Order: sequence, then C-alpha cells, then structure tokens
Amino acid sequence: MDKHKILLVEDEPDLAAVLIDYLLRDGFDAALEGDGTAALARLRQTPPDLLLLDLMLPGLDGLSILRELRKASDLPVILVTAKVEEIDRLIGLELGADDYVCKPYSPREVLARVKAVLRRTTARAQPPAPATPPLIEIDAEGWQATIQGQRLTLTPKEFQLLRVLTARPGRVYSRGQLLDAIYEDTLDVNERAVDSHMKNLRKKLAQAQPERELIRSIYGVGFVFEP
Ligand code: CA
Repeated sequence: MDKHKILLVEDEPDLAAVLIDYLLRDGFDAALEGDGTAALARLRQTPPDLLLLDLMLPGLDGLSILRELRKASDLPVILVTAKVEEIDRLIGLELGADDYVCKPYSPREVLARVKAVLRRTTARAQPPAPATPPLIEIDAEGWQATIQGQRLTLTPKEFQLLRVLTARPGRVYSRGQLLDAIYEDTLDVNERAVDSHMKNLRKKLAQAQPERELIRSIYGVGFVFEP
C-alpha cells in the first residue's frame, strides 16, 4: 500500500519539525507548508490524503483555508488550535473538520488522531457492502433504538443523545451542543448532566457491542459516534 500523504500547515518551525519527524518515522509521507496562501495553492495542486491545519497562520488563516477547501473537497482535515475554548466555537461553525487537536499537544496524540481519521475516512470512501443492515437503527417516533436487531433499553435522554450522535457519524459534538439538543430548557442543568447520561448510554452500548467503542469521548471537546 502506498504511504499516506500528510500535509502539515504550521508556521512554528520547531513544532512543525517535531511533528514531521514523528510522521515520517511512522511511515507517513509528510510535507510542511508554513504560509496559508501557499498552503491553499498546494492543496489544490497536489491534494494530500490528510491535512493537519494550524489556525493562526501568515498569509491566509486556517479557517479561510478550510472554508475554501470545503467548496470542492472532502479531504480529511484535523484542525490545530491553541485554545481549548476555541473548539466549541469551531464546531459551531460546522466547517467540516474531521477532528480537532489543541496546542500544546503531544506528537503521539496527533499521530493517533491522524490514524483514526484516516481509518474512518478510508472506510467512508469505500462503497458500502450490500445487504448489511445498519448497526444502529433509530425509530424516532417510537423512541426506540436497536443495535443489530437487538432492542436497547434507554431512558429518553439517552435515546436523544444516541439519536443526535448517530444522525451524523464522525461529527464531534461538544457537551454544550448535546445539552441544547436534549433539554428544552438548559437554565437549570449543566454540562455534567450530559456526562452522566452519556456514561449510562455508553455502558449500554458496550454491553450490546463489547468489541467496539461506538461513542468516543474526545478529551476537552465532546463526543463522537464512530460506527
Ligand atoms: Ca500558528
């Protein structure tokens, strides 16, 4: 199999060097671009298999690059930001990033994310196998969910969380977004409520499908459904 091509767009040379080194050692074909405008031109000319995109860049910032890119491409993108608080806003913008990494990061963590996103997006690119029933079926009107034909016994909040997450596999939801989705009035509840319902939901899913983690918690960000 060919090496996966990763383009890192990062204007801090020291950070970039460490990450490129990690990617190369792990067998990726990694390239670096330090300027936003040059990065966009390069992306159009020779698209990589995955883009690691810093937000604050000279030339063109990361968000503008992503916005331009998404007009014509569903290239996997992992955004890199210096602020955890930024992530909620970024998710809100629905720019279609596949994952988010916060600075300071460990190169190992970035590598793990890169591999996870590539796994997910490679699976997405393959045609679906015929006659495979969906893993999870949601009956929104009957408030029932089944996993491979097996009925899940969920509370209404757990059901709502599952419904929201499964509607967009691979999309990362923040606690705040999930809270808004499952409570009509969020004044008296806080994001811990999401954690508690989520914990129970994940436990039930793990009982039904012990061999895989269907809902993944992303530290500092939120949750994602990855079938
Ligand atoms: Ca930067």
